[in-house]
Amino acid sequence: MAKEKFEFQAEVGKLLDIVAHSLYSHKEIFLRELISNASDACDRLRYAALTEPGLKAGSGDFGITLSVNAKGRALTIADNGIGMSRDDLTENLGTIARSGTQAFVERLSGDADDDMALIGQFGVGFYSAFMVAKKVDVLTRRAGEDAAWLWSSDGQGEFTIEEAQRPTLGTSVTVHLAKGESEFLEEARLRTIVKAYSDHVAIPIVLESADKKETLNTASALWTRPKGDITDDQYREFYHHTGHTFDDPWMTLHNAVEGVLSYTNLLFVPSSPPLDLFDPQRKPHVKLYVKRVFITDDCEGLVPPYLRFLRGIVDSEDLSLNISRELLQHDPKLAKIRKGLVKRLLGELKKKAKKKADEYAAFWDNFGAVLKEGIYEDTDNRDALLALSRFHSTADDGLISLDTYVERMKEGQEAIYYMAGEDLGTLRRSPQIEGFKARHLEVLLLADPVDEFWVPAVGAFREKKFTSVTRGAADLDGFDADGGDAAKDGKADGADKAKKEVPGIEQLIAAFKLSLGDAVKDVRRSDRLTDSPVCLVAGEGDMDMNLERLLKRHQHLGAAAPTPRILEVNPEHPLIARLAKRSTDDKDGEDGDALADAAWLLLDQARIVEGEQPPDPVAFSRRLSAMIEKGLAV
Ligand code: ADP
Repeated sequence: MAKEKFEFQAEVGKLLDIVAHSLYSHKEIFLRELISNASDACDRLRYAALTEPGLKAGSGDFGITLSVNAKGRALTIADNGIGMSRDDLTENLGTIARSGTQAFVERLSGDADDDMALIGQFGVGFYSAFMVAKKVDVLTRRAGEDAAWLWSSDGQGEFTIEEAQRPTLGTSVTVHLAKGESEFLEEARLRTIVKAYSDHVAIPIVLESADKKETLNTASALWTRPKGDITDDQYREFYHHTGHTFDDPWMTLHNAVEGVLSYTNLLFVPSSPPLDLFDPQRKPHVKLYVKRVFITDDCEGLVPPYLRFLRGIVDSEDLSLNISRELLQHDPKLAKIRKGLVKRLLGELKKKAKKKADEYAAFWDNFGAVLKEGIYEDTDNRDALLALSRFHSTADDGLISLDTYVERMKEGQEAIYYMAGEDLGTLRRSPQIEGFKARHLEVLLLADPVDEFWVPAVGAFREKKFTSVTRGAADLDGFDADGGDAAKDGKADGADKAKKEVPGIEQLIAAFKLSLGDAVKDVRRSDRLTDSPVCLVAGEGDMDMNLERLLKRHQHLGAAAPTPRILEVNPEHPLIARLAKRSTDDKDGEDGDALADAAWLLLDQARIVEGEQPPDPVAFSRRLSAMIEKGLAV
C-alpha cells in the first residue's frame, strides 16, 4: 500500500501548535509520556495474551528499550507491547480520544501563557514529543497481525502512514530531535529523567547501546514495595502515570489487605478536580490488576461513581485471571473489595475532616458536589457521607457540618432550613431568606444540582426535617415572640413588626389576586421578607422552584406549563404599604389600572430576582416605562 497522507483532527492541530511554539520548562516530560504509553501497551498485551496465548508468541519478556542515534540526532523508545494496526494509528495518533484530554483542549484559550500553565497541569501524552522533535516516526506492529506500519509527522497539521517492516510486534517511537535539544542524546541525562519520572514503571526500562544494556529503573510494581521504601516523589510520579494527572495527590492510601480476600490498594485523591469530573458518563478511574496483571481501567464495580475522582490501582490476589472483564465486574468478590475501599476512604476522610479542617475544606470544594451523589445512591454509607458533608450557610462564610447546624439551632426550631439555587452569591442575596436572617435562623445554602436529589431522599437529619425556605408557608411567628437574639439585631425590627396592622393590605392582596389571575397560585402576606417588597415561593405540595428550573433546563419536564407560584408581599415595605393605602382610597376604581400594572411589575420583578425571564418582556417594559414616566411627571 502506498504512503497515505492524513490531516490531524482540528483539536490535535491546535494542541500541537501550542506544544511546539511555547517555551516549556520541563520538556523532558515527553520521555515520561512515551514510556508511560509503552508500559500501558505491555500491560494491555499481557492481559490480551491471557485469553489468546498465541498473541504474545516469541516476543520474550516485556520491556522498554531506549536507544540513541547520536549521529542521526534521534532517540528511540521501543516496546514489545500490543502495537497498533493501521486503523489504531489514525484513531489514536490523529485524534484526541481521551475525554480528559478532550476537555483540556476545549479549555485552551490561545493565550500562550495560560495554555502553558494548563499543559503543565494536565500533560498531553504522545503529542508532547513535539516539544523536542522536528519529526516523529512510529513504527508499529499489532499483536496478532503480520503487517507493520510507519506513522510519521513533523507535527505541522499532517501525518503519513505507509506499510513497513518490523520483525516483532510492538511499537518503536523515534524522536528526531530539534535544534537545541541535544541533551536527550546524553546517557546521563536519560538516566536521571527515567529515575525521576519513571522509576515506578513495573517492567524494565533498558538503555541500550552498541556495547551494553543498562536497566534504568527499579522495575517492580510500586505498590508491591514496602511503604517505607517509597518516597513522596515516587508516589507522585506513579499517580501522574496511572491517573493521567499532573497535580499533587491530596491524599495517598496505600494498604495491603490480607484475609479472606487479599488485595493491595494504592489510591489517590487529587488536589485539583480532573477535567472530566462532571462528564455524564461518570466513569471510574481506578485501575484493576489481578496478581500484578493489568486488567482494566474502567471497571464499573470497583469504585462507585460518586468516587470517580479517585485515581490509582487495586491489585487483587483472589480474582480470577481467566474470566472476561464483563464477568469480573459481577464477581461478588469485587463487590467486597469495593465495600472495603469505600469504607477505608470514608474513614480517612473523616479523620482528615476532624484533624485538618482547612485541608478538608479544600477537598470539599473540589469534590463535595460529587461525594454528595453518594448520599443519594449509596444508602449503606449514607450516614457516613452526611457526616462528611459540608455546607455554606447564612450564619457563616465558612463551611459547616450538619451536626454543627443542629447543635446551634434556635430554641423551638424544629427544621433544618435550606435554600437551593444555582450559585452561592445569588442565594445569599435572595429575598426569601431575609426573614430567617433577621430572626437569626440559620439557612443552609445549597448550590449544587445534586442537592435537589439527596435532600428529599434523606428527608431529615437527627430527626430534624429538611425544609426549603422557598416552598410552603414560612411559619416564623414563634420566633418573633421570643425576642431573644432577634431583638438585638436592628434588622430584626421588620420581623417584630410583622403582625402590625397595615391599612388596606387585605384590599391590596385581593386586588393583586384579581389582576394576576392564573399567573399566580395565590397572593399572601409574607413572614419571610424584611427588605424586599415581594418574593415568589412554591406551594406546599409543589415542586421547589430551583428543581423545576433545573429539570426544565435538562428538558425533563417536556412542554409542561410552569407551575404557578405564590406571590408573597411584604406589608412592611414602604412601597407595599403605599399601594395598600391607595387601594383603600380607590373607592371608585380609577386607580385599578395602576394597581394592576403594579401587580404585574412586582410579579415580574420577583421572577427576575429568581433568575427567570418575565414571560412577556414587551409588556414588562411597557409598564415599566409608563411607571417611570409617571414618576417623573409628579
Ligand atoms: P493517552 O493519554 O491515551 O496515552 P496518548 O496521546 O499518549 O494518549 O496516546 C494515544 C493512544 O495511542 C493511546 O491511548 C494508545 O492507544 C495509543 N498508543 C500510544 N503509544 C502507544 C504504544 N507505544 N503502543 C501502543 N499504543 C500506543
